[in-house]
Amino acid sequence: MNNKSYLGGIIEAVKSLSIGMKTSLKVFFEKHETEQYPENRSTLHFSDRNRFCLEMPHNDKNEHKCIACGLCQMACPNDSITVTSEMVTTEDGKKKRQLVKYEYNIGQCMFCNLCVQACPHGAIRFNQEFENAVFDKNKLLMQLNQPGSKVEEKPKPAPAAKPAAPAAAAPKAEAPATTETTKKEE
Ligand code: SF4
Ligand code: SF4
Repeated sequence: MNNKSYLGGIIEAVKSLSIGMKTSLKVFFEKHETEQYPENRSTLHFSDRNRFCLEMPHNDKNEHKCIACGLCQMACPNDSITVTSEMVTTEDGKKKRQLVKYEYNIGQCMFCNLCVQACPHGAIRFNQEFENAVFDKNKLLMQLNQPGSKVEEKPKPAPAAKPAAPAAAAPKAEAPATTETTKKEE
């Protein structure tokens, strides 16, 4: 190896290093697009349209909106939903289907949203819970209706107001006195 090629190699290395450093410095001062997970867990923000896990919202009385019609189960292309229901008799003697268990298998779900779209009552939705990894695959099977929950009672419609009695017929206006007089027969 002669001196010229030795020096040339050093110059090439310094040149290459400076190009790399220039790129690093440029990126270092640019606005960062990546986020440090999980350190940023509390500030992490996802689009509302993300679909992470199916859920059945309950109100503060432990009521949900599911009427156990099974449409979501029928819409699901890969059997990720199992709706178990029973028939009960209501206080007014009517037969009514009631939800017993709503099972969702997130391990099978492909997050297509067809179940949510099929539900006529808006009883299910996707939430933003994204940390769903578990060591036991049995934990991927979830029950979405809470223990002891029941379907939300719709407020009963107020009894229809009695139709108002027809207003008394207004007395017919008397025909204005005519000035015409019957011609007396002469
Ligand atoms: S998102 Fe799709 S795959 Fe998942 S439960 Fe709903 S219908 Fe089934
Ligand atoms: S979640 Fe909706 S579509 Fe599914 S069983 Fe309940 S009411 Fe029916």
